[in-house]
Amino acid sequence: MKILVINAGSSSLKYQLIDMDGEVMLAKGNCERIGIDGKFTHKTSGGYSSTVDVEMRDHTAAFEQVKRALTEGEGRVVEDLSEVSAIGHRIVQGGSKYDHSVLVTEEVIQDIAGYASLAPLHNAAHVQGIRAAIAAFGEKVPQVVVFDTAFHQTMPPKAYMFGLPYAYYEKYKVRRYGFHGTSHRYVSARCFELLGRPGGVGTKIITCHLGNGSSLAAISDGKVIDTTMGLTPLDGFLMGTRSGAVDPSAVLFIMEKEGLTPAQMNEILNKKSGVLGISGVSSDDRDLDKARAEGNLRAHLAWELRTYQIIKYVGSYISALGGVDAIVFTAGIGENQSLLRSEVLKSLSYLGVRVNEEKNQIRGQEIEITTADSTVRAFVIPTNEELVIARDTRALVNQL
Ligand code: AMP
Repeated sequence: MKILVINAGSSSLKYQLIDMDGEVMLAKGNCERIGIDGKFTHKTSGGYSSTVDVEMRDHTAAFEQVKRALTEGEGRVVEDLSEVSAIGHRIVQGGSKYDHSVLVTEEVIQDIAGYASLAPLHNAAHVQGIRAAIAAFGEKVPQVVVFDTAFHQTMPPKAYMFGLPYAYYEKYKVRRYGFHGTSHRYVSARCFELLGRPGGVGTKIITCHLGNGSSLAAISDGKVIDTTMGLTPLDGFLMGTRSGAVDPSAVLFIMEKEGLTPAQMNEILNKKSGVLGISGVSSDDRDLDKARAEGNLRAHLAWELRTYQIIKYVGSYISALGGVDAIVFTAGIGENQSLLRSEVLKSLSYLGVRVNEEKNQIRGQEIEITTADSTVRAFVIPTNEELVIARDTRALVNQL
C-alpha cells in the first residue's frame, strides 16, 4: 500500500509518498509560494532531485504538479496514480474533540474549519489542502487526518486549564492543547521499545522536540500528563522566532507603549522573538553557533536563556511525573546540538544522570547518550511524523 502524506500550509504543500510494505519513503517534495510565483521541489529515494520555478495558482494546481512528478519523467516513482491507495493529512488543531486520527468526512472538514480561530495560520490551509486533494485524486481515494493536538488530549484539567476566568474556557475553549503530538507520540513509542516496555506501562519519560518550534511533553504510562505548548504553539520556552512563555503584562505593556494592535503583537511574539529576537542574528541554530563562536554576546545570551528555560521545564516535569526513567531528544536541534543535550542532562547530575559524551557527539542516528550507570537513560531518537501519519492512515483505511 502506498500512502501520500500531506502537510498543507497557506502557501505551501509538503508531500511524501511512503510505501507501507517496508515503510520506505519513495519520494518527497514541496510546493512553495503557491498563489505567488511558485517553486516546486521533488526528490526520490533513488537520488533524483529537482527544483523548478512553476506557477501554481492554488492548492489544486499544486496537487497536479505532485501527480505529474510522481508519475512522469526521471523522478517517477509509480506507474500509475491508482497505486496511491490513500492520503494522510497533518492537521495542527483538532480541538478537544479529536483525540485520535479519523477518516475525512464533510463533518470532519467542517470541524477543522471551525477550529481555525484557534490556529489561524494552519487550519484554514489544511482545509484547502484536503479539498484540493479530493479534487485532484477523486472521492474514491480515502483520506485521513492526523492531529498535532490529539496525543496531548490525555492531559488532566489541572495541566490544561489556565488561571483565567472559567467563562473563557466555556465560551471560547481557551485552554492548553499542546502541539507536535505526532512527534512526541512517535519518539515516545520508540523510547518504550528501546526500554523494553511496550506501551510505556509503569514508565515516566520526558520527550523534548527541539526544532524551529519546540515543545516538551511529560508522559506517564504512555499518556501525556503535561506539555509546554498551549492554546497555540507559542507557549513554553524560547524557540527560533517564538517567545515562549512571558509575563502576560509584559505583552500588554509593550502593546500600550508602542501602540500595537493584537495582530501586530502576535507577529512580534511569533515571528520576531525567541532566538532571533534575543540574538538579533538569526532564528537558525547553525547561524547562532557561528555567532557564538565569533564571540557575539547576544547570541550567547539566546543560547543560555533557551537552555536554562528547558532545564527548568525538565525539572518541573520530573516533579510532576514523580520521577523519570528516560529523556528523549528529537527534531533539528534535539538531534544535532550535542552541547545543549549535555547541558540539560548535566543539570540532572544531582539525580545520578551521567552523559556518555562520546556517544553524545554522534549525529543523525538513534542512540543512547547516557552511561550504563546513569540513573536515568537518555536517547536521541530522530522523529518521523510522516510515518506516524502514514501508519494511522493505513490502519483506518484497512478498516473500510
Ligand atoms: P526542525 O524544525 O526540526 O527542522 O529544526 C530546525 C532547527 O534545527 C534549526 O534551528 C536548525 O538550525 C537546527 N539544525 C538542523 N541541523 C543542525 C545542525 N547540524 N547543527 C545545529 N543545528 C541544526
